[in-house]
Parts: sequence; structure tokens; C-alpha cells
Amino acid sequence: MNGIALRSGCVALCSALASFAIVWVVLSVRGGTMDGNALLMGLLCPILIAWPASAYTLSQQQRLKVAHRELARAHAQLAAAHRRLAEKANRDEMTGMLKREAFFGTIDASRRRIDRGALLIIDADHFKKINDTHGHLAGDEALLAICGAIRQGVRESDVLGRIGGEEFGALLVGATAVDARRVAERIRKEVEALRFSPTDGEPIPLTVSIGGILCGRDASVSELMRAADRRLYEAKNCGRNRAVTEPMPAAA
Ligand code: GH3
Ligand code: MG
Ligand code: MG
Repeated sequence: MNGIALRSGCVALCSALASFAIVWVVLSVRGGTMDGNALLMGLLCPILIAWPASAYTLSQQQRLKVAHRELARAHAQLAAAHRRLAEKANRDEMTGMLKREAFFGTIDASRRRIDRGALLIIDADHFKKINDTHGHLAGDEALLAICGAIRQGVRESDVLGRIGGEEFGALLVGATAVDARRVAERIRKEVEALRFSPTDGEPIPLTVSIGGILCGRDASVSELMRAADRRLYEAKNCGRNRAVTEPMPAAA
């Protein structure tokens, strides 16, 4: 406020000086003399008009600046909320993993950015039997335990998705065939090691079967999924609780 009074005072002072100069020039040209009245009018009018007018304009300018700042802050908050909402919409509520479509989108994007990586499809074995025997709630708990074990098996940089009810995908960013095999085996062992007993009784054995494929740049997401699926079914047909991934590269 003090700033506005000072700045508008300066404007009023400049206006008064300019007005005084104009009155003096006009009177000189017209042969008049600068008497007390002319001096008073020349100085008083601009001070009375310019001071409040510029004070009003400056305060409006300041209000506009504050409104602009508040608008920018609200805009940033809205953008952050939008990002959080979009992120939440892409996540499966139960497991916190990416939803199917978002996971496929991530595979597609990373396949074009990075020239190495592997896709694992992880399916819980005989899960229907767990639901049928112990109930759906126990099944949910078992599923969460399996998710925890999958998280233990991958690295921070890998991307996880829930691609079906009891079926998960892991995109191993930058992984080679050897990495894929190692990670798949680690996940399988982590799940096998779970001691899950929802009713404090005997632990229910939990296992997963895994199919894995290297992500070539030229293959589409559905081709990659089909190829990984074929390996998953190979793993199921070979007795479950196993991982079938890329063959190891031949030794040189
Ligand atoms: P397989 O070893 O061949 O995969 O046998 P499976 O029983 O796991 O496979 P199937 O496709 O026959 O059954 C999957 C079961 O997973 C049936 C479904 O009710 C259960 N399921 C899927 N999503 C959920 C879930 O969120 N919670 C629970 N409790 N069960 C789920
Ligand atoms: Mg299953
Ligand atoms: Mg399944």
C-alpha cells in the first residue's frame, strides 16, 4: 500500500511539473503572465486528478498480479491432481500394479525406447482350488501374498501389471535372456517359499508358472503376449511351478 501511495505520488508530482511547464509555455505564447491563480491551477489540478487516478490504476494492477499468481498456483495444483488421478486410474486397486491396458501401453512405449528387455507372464497355479477350498477372501489374501513375492523377485526399475484375475505381467527393462531366466526363477522360488495359512492351520502351498520372452523391437505387444503365453502353457503342461523362458544363448 505504501508503495502504491509513493508511486502514485511520483506520478502526481511529474504531472504537476508537466502541467506547470505547459501553463508557462501557453501563457508566454499568449503574452500572459504566471500569476498566483495560474500557478495554483497548473499545480493543483494534476495533483488532485493524477494522484487518486494513478493510485487506483496501480492498486488494480497489483490485484491482477495477485490473482494471476493464485491462478497459476491453482493451475499447478489441478495439474498435479490430474496426474495423480490418471496414475490411480491406471492402477489395479487390489494389487497396486498397472491395469492390463496400462501395462500393455508401457510395454509398447518402452519397446520403442529401449532395445533390450523381457516380458514375463506369471500365472498362479490351481488358484480356483484355493478359492473353492478356503473361500474367496482367503484367495484374495493368497493373491496379495503372491504379488508381494513377485515384487521381491523383480528390480525397482521393472514394471508390473495385473493382466488377468490371477495372472501378472513383468516387464524386465533392459534384461537379457540370462536376466529373464534368473528373475523368473527368483519369482518362482519366492512364491514357492511363501508360508501362507489364512486360518492359522496348515500352510497352503502357493506356486506360479511363468512364461518369458525377449522383447524384440519389431514384434507387436500382442505378438509378444502370444509368444509369452505359449511358454506359460508349456510351463503349465510340464507340471506347473516352473518357468519357461528364452533358451540360453549358445556358448561361444
Ligand atoms: P491353472 O493352474 O491352470 O492356472 O489353474 P487356475 O485354477 O489358477 O486357473 P483358472 O483359470 O481355472 O482359475 C483362475 C481362478 O482365479 C478363478 C478365479 O475365481 C480366481 N481369481 C481370479 N481373480 C481373483 C481374485 O481377485 N481373487 C480371488 N480370490 N480369486 C480370483
Ligand atoms: Mg491360474
Ligand atoms: Mg490364469
